[in-house]
Amino acid sequence: MDTSVIRNFSIIAHIDHGKSTLADRILEVTGLLTSRDMRDQYLDRMDLERERGITIKAQTVRIPYKAADGKNYILNLIDTPGHVDFSYEVSRSLSACEGALLVVDATQGVEAQTLANVYLALDHDLEVVPVLNKIDLQSADVEGVKAQIEEGIGLDCHDALAVSAKTGMGVPEVLERIIAKVPPPKGDADAPLQALIFDSWYDSYQGVVVLFRIMHGGIAMGQKIRIFSTGAVYEVTRLGAFSPGPVDIPSMGPGEVGYLCANMKNLRDARVGDTITGAQNPAPAPLPGFKEVKPMVFCGLYPVEAAEYEILKSALEKLQLNDAAFSYEAETSQALGFGFRCGFLGLLHMEIIQERLEREFGATLIATAPSVIYKVDKTDGTVLFIDNPSKLPKTQEIATLSEPFVRMEIHTPNDYVGGVFKLCEEKRGIQKDIKYLTSTRVIITYEMPFAEIVYDFFDRLKSATKGYASLDYEIIDHRASDLVRLDIMINGDPVDALATIVHREKSYHYGRALALRLKRSIPRQLFEVIIQAAIGTKIIARERNSPLRKNVIAKCYGGDITRKRKLLEKQKEGKRRMKRMGNVEIPQEAFLAALKAG
Ligand code: GDP
Ligand code: MG
Repeated sequence: MDTSVIRNFSIIAHIDHGKSTLADRILEVTGLLTSRDMRDQYLDRMDLERERGITIKAQTVRIPYKAADGKNYILNLIDTPGHVDFSYEVSRSLSACEGALLVVDATQGVEAQTLANVYLALDHDLEVVPVLNKIDLQSADVEGVKAQIEEGIGLDCHDALAVSAKTGMGVPEVLERIIAKVPPPKGDADAPLQALIFDSWYDSYQGVVVLFRIMHGGIAMGQKIRIFSTGAVYEVTRLGAFSPGPVDIPSMGPGEVGYLCANMKNLRDARVGDTITGAQNPAPAPLPGFKEVKPMVFCGLYPVEAAEYEILKSALEKLQLNDAAFSYEAETSQALGFGFRCGFLGLLHMEIIQERLEREFGATLIATAPSVIYKVDKTDGTVLFIDNPSKLPKTQEIATLSEPFVRMEIHTPNDYVGGVFKLCEEKRGIQKDIKYLTSTRVIITYEMPFAEIVYDFFDRLKSATKGYASLDYEIIDHRASDLVRLDIMINGDPVDALATIVHREKSYHYGRALALRLKRSIPRQLFEVIIQAAIGTKIIARERNSPLRKNVIAKCYGGDITRKRKLLEKQKEGKRRMKRMGNVEIPQEAFLAALKAG
């Protein structure tokens, strides 16, 4: 195919600025979807994504488009995930493009992920085309936000397009702008095949489906291909593009974007960022930048009923088929019995997986508090990485204990800077930089222990800034910290699933807060319950729940029947997520108390 009529582009934006809505409108304006078969956010494939309004998996559409110049073009729209947890996927999707539409909500202005995404796009040498969105809203400040983009990012905005993705106003002009501004792809059709895998997923009928962008050479139906990192060879059994449904294409060349199936059974056979080359005449080197994504946040997942273990296990297996970044392995807890240690890219990823497990597989789970990966240099010279606080070796065996640090950029209106500083200091942050994006918006850079973010940072930031701050972070290194393990004992028995690792300076305050939270979240029983927090052999906090005497309904005096029913339902709901430990019933909230005690 003549590459001069191809345009490969992504849409980048801060969350909720209208990326999915604009993508929908583009499909509609080009006639690829009629408004009749249009659902909102067509590109957000999974129900869960639709409900949360986020895009988890990148999805690509090939759009035939007849431009004002009378020529027929092929636009490949590559939808990128919009959350920091998935930044590697964003980066690979951008590698498949020559340009990016930068969507900025004209009522909100530049936010943390606007900037993070622009930097990523510029790193990939993309032509960035600014688009101001939501101009149908009264509060849109097109000129103000243009100035913000010019000053803060340094992008020329004098002729930036202003659109409403909702009403479609200005969207046809966006297409013409893409043709004019985004360069056509370059590539050598005669060179050995090099194609970038920028997304892949598991389909129960097709096996692994791979989305790729050809840089050099070509792929034909029936051809033998080789995956660079594994060396494995496969025969292409399907080749085509989504337009928007799958369309077969017999062969594809440089600059083209499409999908293929090749009897791959496992997502690990075709990981995002890897290179496809020919089995015969392979390219001498892979495309740059492939990295294996590793889970950063871990938690234990346990079935409430031991009998549900097998259901949970097969659900985890199925989920992993579709998500190579998610890991799990069997784990046993004295407190919780048989379950799994699961690894995630970040907190959102963790929430999504937990929700999917419950929703799609009907599993009822107890989740332990999330943990980061600690590095332990032992006195015997060996090095351990642990993702479960209860696995921390004895103090005398530890030479150095290190924790992951992140570099974090927070965007906030001027007025809340004080509150942000206070929060970051409390979270052991080290301030690195303060910049004014405009006279009223500030970018603050901190380095901070990742564990402090895992524990309630987002909620705290939100309340400190009335929801106006946004942030972006990346993990940079492991650093030695003065950390201790805090154990929780219930009626004298240590509960391994409640152990946490905390900074020594915070440990007393934290231990007391945690014990109190546990006291409140563990319902009173028919006997006394003693909750203790300990560091080593030293008890630092003690709480007591006195034995229960009354029945829940007794205090309703038979008056209001709906109130009674509600109480009973609430009680039943509570039961669902309880775990019996010795003779004490411990509810799900107790396991997450650690998150709020920081
Ligand atoms: P994304 O997170 O960037 O994909 O954002 P979405 O496309 O999901 O949009 C976020 C919210 O903004 C949704 O409720 C949209 O309906 C709304 N939205 C998007 N574009 C416009 C627009 O041009 N005008 C108005 N009024 N609302 C919009
Ligand atoms: Mg979206």
